Amino acid sequence: MAELTWYEPETLEEALPLLEREGVYPHGGGTFLLMGGLKKVKGLIDLDRLPLRRFQATKSFVELGSSLTYAEVTENIEKTDPGHVLLKALSCAASTPLRNRITVGGTVSSFPAWSDLLGPLVALEAEVVTAGANGGIFPIDRYAKEPALRRKTLVTAVRFARRVWDSYYHREVRTRFDYPAFTVTVLSRRSEEMIEDVRIVVTGCSGKFARLMPLENLFRGKPAKPADGREISKRADVRFPAKKGLDADYLAHCFRVALHRGLAQVTGETPAGEGDV
Ligand SMILES: Cc1cc2nc3c(=O)[nH]c(=O)nc-3n(C[C@H](O)[C@H](O)[C@H](O)COP(=O)(O)OP(=O)(O)OC[C@H]3O[C@@H](n4cnc5c(N)ncnc54)[C@H](O)[C@@H]3O)c2cc1C
Repeated sequence: MAELTWYEPETLEEALPLLEREGVYPHGGGTFLLMGGLKKVKGLIDLDRLPLRRFQATKSFVELGSSLTYAEVTENIEKTDPGHVLLKALSCAASTPLRNRITVGGTVSSFPAWSDLLGPLVALEAEVVTAGANGGIFPIDRYAKEPALRRKTLVTAVRFARRVWDSYYHREVRTRFDYPAFTVTVLSRRSEEMIEDVRIVVTGCSGKFARLMPLENLFRGKPAKPADGREISKRADVRFPAKKGLDADYLAHCFRVALHRGLAQVTGETPAGEGDV
């Protein structure tokens, strides 16, 4: 294996020109880079010295610096928003040693279909803040679907509006330490007996992820009561590729079960906030 050069910039001004070099890539937690075997990699930019490890929660928004690990996100968000969907999702992802390494920026820049971060961020309508060739602010769903935006570009933060949601998160796994075959995120808010707002996202499906807007519209602004099962199926027509030795139809069945549990929370059939992770 060819020798790797490590770069250790201390400011963004030092880091950004390094992205222009052929074969030189940012290093977050390194967990995805290592899985890829570092075939094309000539050099790595260690992001640890950059000021990207900041967690900020104001009254109106939450900003996650891109170098925060999953463990640091959960540790911080537990203090400001216990019950937050990111706490439910990230505290179950991978294993403890991996959660101490996997970063927000590295995940957003690779977004594997098994990611536990993608579904919650899409449901939260998060924005990705970047610097470099494609510097700017992008909606998370666009960033996940357009890999071209990631070329020679550094993710510096992810941010989303700070609002109170009842949240449900399900990861479909065979064993506790397994990549999820799919995930379901449901956020909802009720006032009196009305459903004020709802967001429903599935990941790991064909097309990698989907926000189920037609299904959301069945509930949003309506009285909190169970909806017609056939109408739910029609509006949640999600397909899955066969994976992990699991048949596509079987995964679709498991998805419907998880979705039903998430929707029960929206309509108040189970106590708010109760997921099945
Ligand atoms: C065995 C195993 C099990 C796992 N299980 C899960 C799981 O259950 N759930 C889950 O959510 N995740 C899981 N993961 C993690 C997931 O697969 C990715 O490896 C991880 O999200 C990548 O994050 P990272 O910080 O390690 O990225 P890195 O490996 O450091 O980087 C990934 C890519 O992003 C680029 N990059 C890194 N940081 C930045 C940045 N700030 N800006 C721009 N580009 C950047 C790199 O150059 C590289 O191309 C697992 C990983 C392993 C190895």
